[in-house]
Amino acid sequence: MNGSMMQQPLLISSLLTHAERHHGEQEVVSRRVEGDIHRYTYRDLGARARRMANALAAHGVGLGDRVATLGWNGYRHMELYYAVSGSGAVLHTLNPRLHPDQVVWIADHAEDQVMFFDLTFLPLIEAIAGRVKTIKAFVAMTDRSHMPGNSAVPNLLCYEDLIDAHEPEFEWPTFDENTASSLCYTSGTTGNPKGALYSHRSTVLHTYAIALPDSLNCSARDTILPVVPMFHVNAWGLPYAACMVGAKLVFPGPFLDGKNLHELFESEGVTVSAGVPTVWQGLLAHVEANHLKFSTMRRTVIGGSACPPAMMRAFQERYDVNVLHAWGMTEMSPLGTACTLKPKHLTLPAEERLAIQAKQGRAVFGVDMMIVDDEGQALPHDGQAAGELLVRGPWIISRYFKGEGGDPLVHHEGVGWFPTGDVATIDADGFMQITDRSKDVIKSGGEWIGSIDLENIAMAHPAVAMAACIAAPHPKWDERPLLVVVKKPGAHVSRDELIAFYEGKIAKWWTPDDVVFIDAIPLGATGKMQKNKLREQFQDRRLPKA
Ligand code: AMP
Repeated sequence: MNGSMMQQPLLISSLLTHAERHHGEQEVVSRRVEGDIHRYTYRDLGARARRMANALAAHGVGLGDRVATLGWNGYRHMELYYAVSGSGAVLHTLNPRLHPDQVVWIADHAEDQVMFFDLTFLPLIEAIAGRVKTIKAFVAMTDRSHMPGNSAVPNLLCYEDLIDAHEPEFEWPTFDENTASSLCYTSGTTGNPKGALYSHRSTVLHTYAIALPDSLNCSARDTILPVVPMFHVNAWGLPYAACMVGAKLVFPGPFLDGKNLHELFESEGVTVSAGVPTVWQGLLAHVEANHLKFSTMRRTVIGGSACPPAMMRAFQERYDVNVLHAWGMTEMSPLGTACTLKPKHLTLPAEERLAIQAKQGRAVFGVDMMIVDDEGQALPHDGQAAGELLVRGPWIISRYFKGEGGDPLVHHEGVGWFPTGDVATIDADGFMQITDRSKDVIKSGGEWIGSIDLENIAMAHPAVAMAACIAAPHPKWDERPLLVVVKKPGAHVSRDELIAFYEGKIAKWWTPDDVVFIDAIPLGATGKMQKNKLREQFQDRRLPKA
């Protein structure tokens, strides 16, 4: 017997319609590429998104067509989130930090029809315009007065001209909720990038999940500033969640340095932010150096790579900003876990609470997790056993775009799970902790050493700005940990002092065999440390004899 509730598809356009209707006066504030502040409301956003939907239709963009963006976090990008997906086309957010060859490869693979870009990326567009095969028009996300003169880009259109030329009357179409809505390519370090194709249903369900109190906790009383780029897994879903709950949104544009971010936090009364650890390093350094405070910011979500406990301590103890450690992947829309405490943890001493917060957290409802050993056997959730983390759920990928790479799932008792490539433990309370990426694992004498633990300890040293721990070849143990360190400007610390710093903090055999100091750790397009590059760089390094 079926239930007798209405069959209403879960569609992205309904998020915007809701925001317009119930939070029409709520503000969306953006720092534009030009540097000035733009300010309007959800009502304005809705009207302009509908004008853009009319413009897309007039340019022949239809159901399922891919529309690419190369854009910062800003209101025009937000309009495209809704105009493109809402009208049944697929929003393809390209990462502008990729090499132009990769951008061309991905745009061709996605068969993008139109490409929108912020003016910052004009040189990139000029470099690729003659090479991309399927793009019929390029749209500069600016007004007529800022349009580039005598540009060689063919079929170059102006965003504001498109808006002005079309009416705000547009009926968002209704279609199957499983229709594709947006596309993101993974920043995989090997092989060609692969596309994760989200649907309206997966996006709306993910939005409900991230808004929950024990998740990213978004509400109408919040002012949310996503530092995480809109080209990195849809800014972790915040542009959707803000509409769902009616939060004020603040977009930083390309100005992601500590000074600009802090100014925007203060001037707009930001309560919640979100980004990868590398961004927060710059912000904390600025705030520290200038003896500043956060007068409204109360929470920040940190994920994308492990948040060092030293960073959590700085935010929480010095600035009264609570850190929410979260974990996910492009293939998971992205949220999998968020680390909020259970009631029994609230009375624990601060250090013990911090140790729990350093874990990646508990699964949000909708995500199932298990860990398996090398033979695929399930491991216990005892906080000790570490194995590959498998996930399943309605916003987790079942296959890559165009079936690339075949069936990615592993099957366990007849059920398909997505293998994350992360190595993790899960404790009896359900808290998952990542110890490594499977390809970053250090295997010493057949035993795994967690590089993230080793990095977190190094990061707690006052002279260390950034630390990566990689496997270095070893004649006896196969691999041993090598610590690669970037010192803070003007700070001094020696190899021996750093090695001594590990004493009593971990099992002795986990201590790095050696330390190298370098000027900068290579970062990938989403701000993550590229340990594969470091491994290549130090593959011939001979470790000192123990
Ligand atoms: P991406 O798809 O580029 O977002 O990368 C996903 C990967 O980033 C995950 O599989 C993890 O290896 C890593 N990652 C994301 N969040 C965290 C976190 N909080 N702690 C450790 N690693 C993380």
